Amino acid sequence: MTSETVFVATCDLAAQVRGRAVPAARLARTLRTGVGWVPADLALDCFGGLAPGHAFGSVGDLRLIPDPAATLDIPADGDVPGTRVYLAGQTNLDGSPWPGCPRNFLSSALDELRACAGLEVYASFEHEFMLGERAEHPPFSFQRLRAAEPFGTELVTAMEQAGLDPETWLPEYGPGQFEITMRPAPGMVSADRAILLRELVRDLAARRGLPVTFAPIADPASVGNGVHVHFSLRDAGGDTVMFDANAPGRLSGTAARFAAGILRHAAAVVAVTAPNPSSYLRLTPHRWSAGGAFLAERNREALLRVAPTVEIGGADPAGQLHLEYRAADATANPWLVLGVLIRAGLAGLAAEGPARVWPETATEADLAAEPSLPASLSEALTTLEADPVARGWFPDELLGTFLAVRRAELAAVSELTDGDLCERVTRVY
Ligand code: GLU
Ligand code: MG
Repeated sequence: MTSETVFVATCDLAAQVRGRAVPAARLARTLRTGVGWVPADLALDCFGGLAPGHAFGSVGDLRLIPDPAATLDIPADGDVPGTRVYLAGQTNLDGSPWPGCPRNFLSSALDELRACAGLEVYASFEHEFMLGERAEHPPFSFQRLRAAEPFGTELVTAMEQAGLDPETWLPEYGPGQFEITMRPAPGMVSADRAILLRELVRDLAARRGLPVTFAPIADPASVGNGVHVHFSLRDAGGDTVMFDANAPGRLSGTAARFAAGILRHAAAVVAVTAPNPSSYLRLTPHRWSAGGAFLAERNREALLRVAPTVEIGGADPAGQLHLEYRAADATANPWLVLGVLIRAGLAGLAAEGPARVWPETATEADLAAEPSLPASLSEALTTLEADPVARGWFPDELLGTFLAVRRAELAAVSELTDGDLCERVTRVY
């Protein structure tokens, strides 16, 4: 360990990474007993305000207990010292898990998936973001890729060194837009990596003097920045349970029922995965974000897309087949995103038949009858509150604070035009 300090952090309801630094010399003790934290911190909104009416008040104390498996080493760079970030679970002072903790929310969903269905989830969060002055280089072009050097190569190298397992770094469609993908990993690791990746990108961009934003949409007239969640289910032996060569979309019954739960509770799920007022400017048809609550083979307008398999050289599709959830963005906390997908999927396994899989040939007219996604954050929140199954996924303090934070953000921007809203959110994310 070469850094002088370590930063112990949570990722909160506004998807902000907040925490405290300690001298590296205190690491062993910090790994055992953590650093102090405050329950009301959960009620911070993305603009730095405390949501009115939150449940915590001025009393109470928590600990952030670092997970040695969730670290990011940021090396020293010139005069700027390096550091190590540890992601942490929040506990009470006796070490028992704190019900408001978003990371605990994902661990309990993973436990439930194991206990009720004998399954594990593997996932990967694919991120888009906008870098620099949003120059109009041709979409997907070599020119755009090279214009982002040395940032691009430094990012990929830093990710490899940090164990984030980068897969593809690409110039995307929109002005200044890029995308970075990572290899699939076990559920908690994939969500931790999503959180750490965003901080790594922001940190590197700041040191290179480049503006960067993961905002869902930086300009209402342009394209959005998605966070697409690729996931598959595996049994206890590590074998995929996604594939059935003879079923629609080659999706197994388990996978199709899991998907049906996500579709059934889509509006409540979207409230968590696209939780900013500006998220709903991105989630509109024809943006290749998600245009409706349906499952379709290789369709980029679907909420759930059956991702392609590559069969060159006779490669086996079974281990590759997976689903991609497209309606998330970087204003959402990755632990909550994966947690609600699992909770909704479990509800599907318990109570639904298989979801309809639209083939690649489905037309817009075919899909027109499928439910649309909520048109605004307030509609999504109202649906979440009114869905008794979805409400049951959350401890009371977590859901109550989530709703309070989201409504505080809605109130904070209620007077803004769409353009000013995007601009304000771009500065935060
Ligand atoms: N930018 C699109 C979004 O907002 C995704 C485009 C794509 O990579 O398919 O999700
Ligand atoms: Mg993309």
